[in-house]
Order: sequence, then C-alpha cells, then structure tokens
Amino acid sequence: MDRPAAKSFSAARFLISAAAPAQLPADLGVEVAFAGRSNSGKSSVINTLTGRHGLARISKTPGRTRLINFFELQSGQRLVDLPGYGYAEVSNAERASWVPMLEALRLRSSLRGLFLIVDSRRGVQAEDQELIAWADPGQRQVHLLLTKSDKLKRNDARAAVDAARRLLGNAATVQLFSSQDGEGLVEARRQLAAMLG
Ligand code: GDP
Repeated sequence: MDRPAAKSFSAARFLISAAAPAQLPADLGVEVAFAGRSNSGKSSVINTLTGRHGLARISKTPGRTRLINFFELQSGQRLVDLPGYGYAEVSNAERASWVPMLEALRLRSSLRGLFLIVDSRRGVQAEDQELIAWADPGQRQVHLLLTKSDKLKRNDARAAVDAARRLLGNAATVQLFSSQDGEGLVEARRQLAAMLG
C-alpha cells in the first residue's frame, strides 16, 4: 500500500533554468514547486529528499539564484525550485519580473502541489502565506516543512507545529524536518510521492 515511502528520488537531475514564461518546460507530466524564504533550508531539503548533495547547489550558482530551476525526478516528474524570497537586496523591478513567471507556473495543469519551506524557529510569515495563496490550496496540496527541527527543544518543536496548524488550518499539512538528523525525511518523501502520484 505504502509504496511511495520507498521512493528516494535519487535519479534526480538538473533540467533547465527559466527566466521567462516561454522558457518553462512543456506543461506535461507532473511537478511540485518548492518555495521558501532565503536561508530557510530549502536547498538542504532538496538535497536531502533526493540524496543528491550537489543538486540544489546548482540553484545557488551565480546567475541561477533568481531563476526558476527545474529538476527531473524521473521521466515526467519534476521538482520546481522557486527563487528564495525575503532578500532585502532584491529590487522592486526584479520582484516585478517574477510575477509573469509565477503566474504562468500557477496556471500549469502539471503543477500538483507546493512544498513550502519555513525555518521552524521563525514560523510562518506573511510572504509564506502569499505563496500558499498562490498555490490555490483548495485545488492543490500545500505541504509545510518546518525545518532545522534539530535546533529546537522537543516542546518548542511541538509548539511550532501546533502554531502553524492553527494558523493554516486546512490550507496546508505540516511536519517537522531536519536535514541534519533526518527527522521527517520518510514522511516528506511520502508526501512528495503522493503529490506526484
Ligand atoms: P536556503 O537558502 O533556503 O536554500 O537554505 P540552505 O539549505 O542553504 O540552508 C541555510 C543554512 O541553514 C545553512 O547554513 C544550512 O547548513 C543550515 N541548515 C539547513 N538545514 C538545516 C537543518 O536541518 N539543521 C540545521 N541545524 N541547519 C540547517
């Protein structure tokens, strides 16, 4: 029954960086977007989920940090790495240039869900909630990873989950995650496989 849990996504490979809607790959197959504030641990999540530790480094190479980077998990299945937000130094003009890209991505029928990456010590912020609204949680699953859980005491970790659940209600499922000690890895892979399935 629980076959998705066995998936490790270890065949993941970089596919393409897109700077404009016309550069998006064909809207075929299925894809899941990954979004989070800069420094939330998003790259570490992508590396840990795939077990491919060089993978998300590609998204951090100069010239690619502000593009939408696509990885192929297997044929017809993609992970879409959105630019980290919350950088003070991103200009309004640059932010505005993302709007058509995000809108084009949102309209794709292949986009099945959103993994939202939030530092567990920081909690869900207004920009994170904007991303949730973008994903249209009535239509698509949104899964929140509260990262760096190894840095919290157990009570504080539980409180972080409770606070996020209270705030988001039915809009998202919520779990703890640590790239450092592997907490939540099995569950996160299962959720990703379910979205792609
Ligand atoms: P990104 O900017 O959102 O892609 O975040 P990164 O994955 O580059 O992580 C930002 C910082 O947080 C780095 O210094 C990571 O080593 C650290 N980090 C990421 N995940 C974890 C984690 O699970 N536990 C701990 N302790 N540190 C983490």
